[in-house]
Amino acid sequence: MSTYVVLLGPPGAGKGTQAKILARETGLVHVSSGDLFREHLSQQTELGKLARSYMDRGELVPDEVTIQMIRERLERPDCQAGAILDGFPRTTVQADALEALLQEHHARVDLVPLITAPLEVLVDRLGGRWTCRAQGHVYHEKYNPPRQPGRCDIDGSELYQRDDDRSETVQRRIQVYFEQTAPLIDYYRQRGVLLEVDGTQPIEAVTAILLQAIQAVRTARV
Ligand code: ADP
Ligand code: AMP
Repeated sequence: MSTYVVLLGPPGAGKGTQAKILARETGLVHVSSGDLFREHLSQQTELGKLARSYMDRGELVPDEVTIQMIRERLERPDCQAGAILDGFPRTTVQADALEALLQEHHARVDLVPLITAPLEVLVDRLGGRWTCRAQGHVYHEKYNPPRQPGRCDIDGSELYQRDDDRSETVQRRIQVYFEQTAPLIDYYRQRGVLLEVDGTQPIEAVTAILLQAIQAVRTARV
């Protein structure tokens, strides 16, 4: 039986950090729409060029192309047992599309942890975020530094600061979250799958809560 987890929360809440750990611990695949767009960007595909014009401004890439990209990713065999979705869905249209797609496979969104943190924490985290070029592992210069500055602990690749982590774009991304993505909180609450998690706790404390919740969902269905 499959398990689909959607990590919800504003930019900087810790979704990517947690998704990487949860994937390792649960064996579920980490699917990050932002990472997929950044791969297209670096390979200079047509989708990458289109996505860049939105990402640079902190706006959402249009639903149609985003949904198509995620559909293709989720239909690959490695997602059959489920996935940890990070950054998707971000609109109600995307959430409806995900529901329909999973229904085709007799699956559903099982759990939606909402990771929260106050605005000043988000801004501080994004301002100090360093991302790994090869696989998108994330670090923070103060809160989660790599062992060797500028190098990923896990795969040794170069760390860089994302263009959209500049302060003007950060403000816009957070605003877009509240306008377009926050309605998904009620959407998933109504479906009985929302779990609010305080994202200001240490990384390990957040992971422990999420792992326990995933375990509970899996056990309940056996
Ligand atoms: P998101 O994917 O939600 O945008 P990230 O996982 O990339 O967020 O985290 C944003 C930044 O905050 C990164 O630099 C990361 O190292 C740091 N971070 C993540 N979780 C925590 C935490 N619980 N405490 C302190 N810093 C954190
Ligand atoms: P993230 O890596 O999740 O912070 O996403 C970086 C950027 O990619 C966002 O600011 C958007 O421009 C774009 N993006 C990522 N996921 C989505 C999505 N589900 N819908 C629309 N745009 C997205």
